[in-house]
Amino acid sequence: MMHNIVQLAYIAATVLFVFSLHWMNNPKTARRGVISGAAAMLVAVLATWIQPQIHHHGWIIIAIVAGIVVGIPLSRVPLTAVPQRTALSHAFGGAAAGLVGTAKYFLWLSEGPEELTPFRMIAIIAEIILGFLTLTGSLMAAGKLQEVKWIPQRPVTYPFQNVANMGLLVIAAVLGVLLVLYPAEPWSSAAFLAIVALSLIFGVLFIIPIGGADMPTVISILNSYAGLSAVAMGFVLDNKLLITAGALDGSSGLILSIIMCKAMNRSFTNVLFGAFGKVQKAGAGGEEKVYKQESSEGVAQLIEQASLVVVVPGYGMAVAQAQHKIREFYDQLTKRGITVKFAIHPVAGRMPGHMNVLLAEADIPYSALVEMDDINSDMPQCDVALVVGANDVVNPAARYDKSTPIYGMPIIDADRAKMVIAIKRSKNPGFAGIDNELYFKDNTFMLFGDAKAVIGDLVKQLAGGSGH
Ligand code: NDP
Repeated sequence: MMHNIVQLAYIAATVLFVFSLHWMNNPKTARRGVISGAAAMLVAVLATWIQPQIHHHGWIIIAIVAGIVVGIPLSRVPLTAVPQRTALSHAFGGAAAGLVGTAKYFLWLSEGPEELTPFRMIAIIAEIILGFLTLTGSLMAAGKLQEVKWIPQRPVTYPFQNVANMGLLVIAAVLGVLLVLYPAEPWSSAAFLAIVALSLIFGVLFIIPIGGADMPTVISILNSYAGLSAVAMGFVLDNKLLITAGALDGSSGLILSIIMCKAMNRSFTNVLFGAFGKVQKAGAGGEEKVYKQESSEGVAQLIEQASLVVVVPGYGMAVAQAQHKIREFYDQLTKRGITVKFAIHPVAGRMPGHMNVLLAEADIPYSALVEMDDINSDMPQCDVALVVGANDVVNPAARYDKSTPIYGMPIIDADRAKMVIAIKRSKNPGFAGIDNELYFKDNTFMLFGDAKAVIGDLVKQLAGGSGH
């Protein structure tokens, strides 16, 4: 009876997880997706806990309290820090899988070698390799994104790096095969611990050659590793829910990484082994190029003449939290009969959907948000392209300059608009670390300042102007 209830609860949790992912597809249903995901987790924990063979309730309560103590502060991080926060979650997931695998191995070893069947050993080895490399890999990725001082942001490369890294993994795999064949020899537990150590070291070395700009993609790949280690854990513990939930996690992480790679026109191998974001030597010429600057008053006047304004938001809008001011700006322009559209680049900001989330938070209608491929055909008719804290995603060098790290990435064609107004704080380059010729074009005007403050000024100018 109890067994059937638990199995039914597991099926219900799986269905809720599937719907959760489905609802995440659309900003309108995303909230429901979060609630159903949390509900699925609650059902999963309770259904596991009520089983009669579960004892040690005190430990379970301590674990739940520990989870809550860590989880609540994690939920309070600003949106711009969500990628590294997500990496931390994967690190915890990897650690959990790795530790459960280790505990199970030593438990079964003490109960007798007949417990360590080849099937169980294969599952345990997969679980600990994936779990422990996800732990250190995700911690390194989070550290790089958080710009922790002692972790270099730039890719660190040295000769034979990829061969050496792969060598570590091969040694771990060979030891794993030996353990499947001889799980309970006198040397077996030492070999087991060696696999744990090699996986932990591999996680660190795997991330070192990858630049900060590729971290969100790598985090998503680590997400799929964490999912796969949960699948292996499901086989070890003979728990079907872990297998289905882990498979959902693993495949969604993989799909997201593929989407991100496509949006940047990069391959998996290029992300993992390409050392993207290495410091580029500046050209010898070094002549100062000149920007044209404009005041917010002047820009407001230019914008008032326009009939189509395309706002191109980027990471700077997220940093400045300028979305609410942009909403006021949008209202001012639409009141005047000016059409305003938002050009959404798939990797603008620091995570997929970053711009959509922020603009939705400010209640900007979804119909005004236009994906890159659709907006680009409108750009030649656009009177003013207002670039708000975007840089790499509007850099024309991506089209032709093979020496830049963003070569081949599709961009929003802001440069094809009749006029460009670019809002940023300084002359610093964007995430990929390269200059942007868009800012030096004849029809581009720079409006230097914090995006929230500058857009606030524009709104004031426009509101004042409308009184005449
Ligand atoms: P960028 O990081 O290229 O540029 C952001 C610009 O915003 C900077 O040039 C900065 O200039 C400006 N800025 C920062 N703070 C403010 C502020 N408070 N007010 C005004 N401006 C500000 O961002 P993009 O969105 O154009 O490009 C995203 C980059 O991230 C791409 O290289 C992409 O490949 C990468 N990436 C994105 C992923 C994703 O999923 N979204 C995943 C992986 C990588 P200044 O300092 O002068 O103000």
